[in-house]
Amino acid sequence: MTNQAIRQCLAGRQLLETEVPFPKEVLHRSLHVNHQPALQSEFGHWHCRRCGNDEQALFYTHECARCKQQCTYCRYCIRLGKASSCTLLYTWVGALFSYRPLFSACAWRGTLTSAQAVAAKALVRAVEQAHVHLLWAVCGAGKTEVLYPALARSFALGYRVAIVAPRIDVIKELAPRLYEAFPKVSQSVWYAGSRKQPLHAQLVLATTHQLMRYQHAFDVVIVDEVDAFPYAYDERLQRAVERARKNVSAFILLSATPSRQIQKQYRFHQTKISRRFHGHDLPLPSLQWCGHWRKDLQQGKLPKKVRAWMMSHRIKPKMIFVPSVHILEQLSISLKRADMAHVAVHAQSQARHTDVALYRRGEVDCIVTTTILERGITIKGLQVAVLGAEDHIFTEAALVQISGRVGRNQAEPTGDIVFFHHGKTKAMKKAIAHIVSMNEEE
Ligand SMILES: [Zn+2]
Ligand SMILES: [Zn+2]
Repeated sequence: MTNQAIRQCLAGRQLLETEVPFPKEVLHRSLHVNHQPALQSEFGHWHCRRCGNDEQALFYTHECARCKQQCTYCRYCIRLGKASSCTLLYTWVGALFSYRPLFSACAWRGTLTSAQAVAAKALVRAVEQAHVHLLWAVCGAGKTEVLYPALARSFALGYRVAIVAPRIDVIKELAPRLYEAFPKVSQSVWYAGSRKQPLHAQLVLATTHQLMRYQHAFDVVIVDEVDAFPYAYDERLQRAVERARKNVSAFILLSATPSRQIQKQYRFHQTKISRRFHGHDLPLPSLQWCGHWRKDLQQGKLPKKVRAWMMSHRIKPKMIFVPSVHILEQLSISLKRADMAHVAVHAQSQARHTDVALYRRGEVDCIVTTTILERGITIKGLQVAVLGAEDHIFTEAALVQISGRVGRNQAEPTGDIVFFHHGKTKAMKKAIAHIVSMNEEE
C-alpha cells in the first residue's frame, strides 16, 4: 500500500524531503527511491541538484532553522521551497506509470481551417515519431485547437503530456479550455500558488518553473510562448524542461514571434500559420506622436491624445500598455483625476488576479498594464494602445504580441491598435514590417 502511495507521489518527479509526506525510514527502504542532498559542494563551489543552478551569487549561507547550523540554500529555485544543504532530494528510479490508451478523448467538435489542419498533422507526426517541431503561428491563429489532434493521438497512445508556458496568465487561460476539450483525461495545473493537484495526472499544465519538480516523466512536452521571458533567456529553465522529458519523447514549441535563433535551429522542423483562424488580416498598428507625455503624467495630466483615444472607444474594452510600474502608477492617477474607470495591473500588484478577473467579466472596461499581459489575454472587441512605445522594453516581438491582442474574435475581427510615442524606433518599424509580411503571406 505504502509503496503504491510513494510511487504515486514520486514517479517521474524529484521532490525535496519537505515536500514528501512519508517518513524517511520508509522512503530509504524503498528500492525505487534515490536520495541525495539537494545541494552539492565541490571545492567550495555550490551546485543545486534540483534546478541545476551553478551561479555562486545565488547561493546563500545562513543560520538554518531546520538543522540549527550554518547551512546554504539555493535562491534560484526558492519559490518552489528551500533546497538547502541539509535537505534531501528524492528521485524515482522505478518503473513509471502507464496510462491506459484513451481513444476519442477529444470532445471538441469544431473544424480546423486548412492551414490549421496542415499544422495539426505535422504535430501528430511529431508525437508519433518522437520528434521536435516548431509551430510558428500568428497571434490569433487558433494554435490551441491546432494542438488537439496531437493531444488526442498522445492519449490514444497512452502518453503522458506536459504543456508549459513561461507565464502564469497563459496557463490560466489555457487550463479551462483543455478541461473542456479533454474531459476524460486526468489533468493537473501547476503554478506558484496553485491549489493541491492530482500528482500523477496524465496531462500536466504548468509554468516552466514548475517542471523542475519532474524528471524523465513526459512522452510529449509542449512549450507555449517559447520566445517569452524568462524561458527564452534562462538556460536553467530550458534544462529543467529538457530533464522533464523522457529520453524518447516529442518536443513541440509554439510561438507567434520566434527569435531568429529558434527559427534557424528548427528550420527543418517547422510549420507556419500566417493567417488568423477567421481569415482576416492582423490589425496594423498606427503610430501617433504624443509629445512630452512623461511630463504630462508627472503633472497628473492625461496626455491629450490618450484622452481622445479613450473617449473614442468609450464603451469598448481597452488595454493600455506602459513601459514601467512607475509610469503605470502615474497614468493610473491621471486617469482617476479624469474620472476614467480602470484597473492597473503589474506583476507584483496584490490584486493582480482579481483585477484581471474583473476586467475579463467586463465589470471594468479599461486595464492599464506593463508587458506582463502582452500574451495570453483574449477579449472580444478589444482596443489596444501602447503609451511610450519608444521605450526599449517594447521590442519588435513585444509590439507584435501586443498588437496580436486585437481582433481575435470572429465576430469582431478588427480593432484599433495605436503606438503613442515620442520618437519612432527601429523596433516599432520592424514590428509593423513583421505584421505586413505575415498579412502578405498565403
Ligand atoms: Zn536550485
Ligand atoms: Zn539547514
